Order: sequence, then C-alpha cells, then structure tokens
Amino acid sequence: MIYRARYVLPMDDRIIENGEVLVSDGEIRAVGERLVDAHPDEAFTDLGNCALLPGFVNAHSHVEYTSARNAVDALNLWDWIGAVGFNRTRLPDRRTLKPAAAFGAAKLMTSGVTCVGDSSFTGAAADALSELGLRGIVYLEVFGQSAGDNYAQVFDKKLDDAHRLQADCSRLVNVGISPHSIYTSNRGLLKLCAETCAELDIPVAMHLAETQAEVDYSLHGTGPIAAWRGGLGYEAMINGMRPAAYLHAVGLLRRGVCLAHCVHLSAEEVELLASSGAGIAHCSTSNAYLGCGIAPVVDLLQSGARVGIGTDGAASSPRLDFFEEMRFALGIQRARAQDASVLTANDMLKMATVGGARALGLDDYIGTIEPGKRADLIAVDMKDAFESENLCLAVLSRQPSDVRLVLVDGAEVVRDGRPVGADLDALSEALKERLSGG
Ligand SMILES: [Zn+2]
Repeated sequence: MIYRARYVLPMDDRIIENGEVLVSDGEIRAVGERLVDAHPDEAFTDLGNCALLPGFVNAHSHVEYTSARNAVDALNLWDWIGAVGFNRTRLPDRRTLKPAAAFGAAKLMTSGVTCVGDSSFTGAAADALSELGLRGIVYLEVFGQSAGDNYAQVFDKKLDDAHRLQADCSRLVNVGISPHSIYTSNRGLLKLCAETCAELDIPVAMHLAETQAEVDYSLHGTGPIAAWRGGLGYEAMINGMRPAAYLHAVGLLRRGVCLAHCVHLSAEEVELLASSGAGIAHCSTSNAYLGCGIAPVVDLLQSGARVGIGTDGAASSPRLDFFEEMRFALGIQRARAQDASVLTANDMLKMATVGGARALGLDDYIGTIEPGKRADLIAVDMKDAFESENLCLAVLSRQPSDVRLVLVDGAEVVRDGRPVGADLDALSEALKERLSGG
C-alpha cells in the first residue's frame, strides 16, 4: 500500500510536500515523492490534506487508572496516592480495572498514540493493548516496601506473572516489570530487579524524583513521604543519596529502563541520566496538577538524554489527549526558561515520536518514517489550518477528532476518529456501569 498525504513528516526535520510512504507486510519500505510511478501495481490511498507522521509514543501511562479520572482534586502526590491508589488494606478490583484499561487505551489510540509504556497493577493493560491492536510495553508494578515482606518472594511471583502475561498477549506487546518507586521499594528488591531484568532482557520502568519530598525522603528519611509511610506502618528507608544517584548505585540507571517524571534533579544527576542511556518520560500535566514541579527537560535534552512525553494516568491528567499533553509540555518548558526559543514545535513533535521510542528502547523499530521501521503512522487532518501557519505548530494545534487514520504495524486501528475494532461509547458505558456498581 502507498499512502499519499499533503505533508509527510518523517521526523528528520524535513517536510515532504505531496509525500508518499510505501508500506508492505507492516514495514515501511520507502518514503519520498512519486513512489506511485515506481510501483504502479501497488494499492494506493490518497489521504488528501493531511499530515502523515509517525504515531505518538506515550512513554508513561496507567490506563487502568482511567477508573479514577477526576476522582479527587487539589491533593499533593502523597495524599493523592493514598486517595486514588492502592494499599494493602484496599486491593484493586480487576473487574473495574479491565474496562478502565480498555477505555483508557482506546482514548489514547484515538488521539494518535500507537505505542504505550504503561505501568499496570494487574496486567489488564496488556489485554487492552492486545485487543485494540496497539503496540506497547506493559510494566507489571511491584512493591517491596516493608522489612516484614519477603521481597525475593514478592519479586519471583511478579516475574512468574510477567512470563504468564507475555505468553497470553499480542506479539506487539512486551511485558516488563516496574518497581513503583524508590520510596515503595526497598534496596534488596531494586537490586534483585536490576540483576534479573538485565539478565533476562526484561524492560523496566519506575517513577523517579517526582517531588522534592521524594528527594528529602531519600536523603534524610524526613518530610511528608516519611509521614505518609509512617502512617501506613512502614519503616523509613534512608538512602543518604538523591534519587537518581541512588538508582545508579543499585544498578537501575541503564538503557532499557524508563523513568517517569525526573522533576527534581541536580546538575550531576542530569548528566548521570543522560550518559546512562535510561529513558525519561516527561509528564508535564500530571506534574503540574499534583503540585510536583516542572522537569528540567531542556537541560536533559541538551545533555543528550532520551526524553519522551507521557500522559501519566487519567487520575492525574484526565483527558488522555496527546495533543493537549504536547501543547502543555511545550508551553510550560518555555515558561520555565522564560525563553521561547528553548524548544520548538518541531522539537516537541520529535520528542512525542522518536523521543518516546528512544525512551522505551524501541527506536530501532518505531519513532520515525524510514525504510526498515514498522509502519506505525498517523494521518492528521489539516483542512482547518491556514496556508500561513507553521506546520509543526499547526499539527500540535489539532485535536483527537482530527486524527483520520492510525496504523499500527501496518494495520488500521483508527479510521475517521473511531477505533476500528472497538466502540468507544460502548467502552465508556461499560466502565460507567461498573463504577456505579453494575
Ligand atoms: Zn505513573
């Protein structure tokens, strides 16, 4: 199949007008102009006045938490986790999380997301991505926060769950492991995770340096996280190091590990993260809504770090609209720097595509439009844009209803704003019914 569009943005700083992309067996075979002349027998789709670009890579989400969308307001992270998250006295209900994951993943897909790095409590996210035909890494969350827990046993059980889940899900979904954070995982668990996942080549995700409170807790065992954990009966874990430095010490700063947030970093930690090859998922809306701060994204990019964009879950970033996430991230970085030139709209589109692919360690397969990569592509309708607009800014200004086509591995998963294999309204109704006790 050859797809033609008014604009093709391969994410190498070119804009190919009246460009074409040849896709065969789910792989991109060629990109350029007039491919139809060289391949006259190939099927042909003219997308008209659209911008064709790589699908967005959502580097950090929790589609299961769509069930907690707008559930609480004006809570800081540690109080928010207590209100919407899970603890040992309140375990998750898989009957709610399953429809929540399906609805959340479908919402992301309709906003142009083709690949998701999702941290999942039960694995329901892997089922959702498989059923919808999305690509992704689903990281099973593991907690090892009490000295009373046998962390090795907890970790082995999670590893078994991950192997089982991997056998059941689609070939486009990889299953990884996610120790939730340094304040909910003890050193033994983190070291075991570092060693085992490196040996078995299992991808890892974590939340890191999300709040100043996390830095204080890691350094001194003090502050609101210490108080919150103490209230739950957990002993303090004092590392005597800042979060990223600590993660380096336990062997979890490396390629194949994706770190959500990274808001509070020293200059040394920025360099450490960049040189480690670890990925970073910048979740600007969630960080702002939960009062966490603004990540030093420009510093990280300038140091060569692998930074992508993440929506986080709907419990802290309610719309799961990737266009909105990109716009907010662009605006807040310019505001932080008091300098509009630090980040362009083109930079933002690259971060949202190839940046996310690099953050998840998938850039050999996806993230750009170039021969040899898998055909994860989106067509965004530009009919309402003026000729005079900067094209990258104009793409950022679109909304999910402008997404005409989404291809994952060459297969159509969204056509004219609606999922091909699912009914968004029905998914929403199913979740609503479940949340109202049905
Ligand atoms: Zn998260």
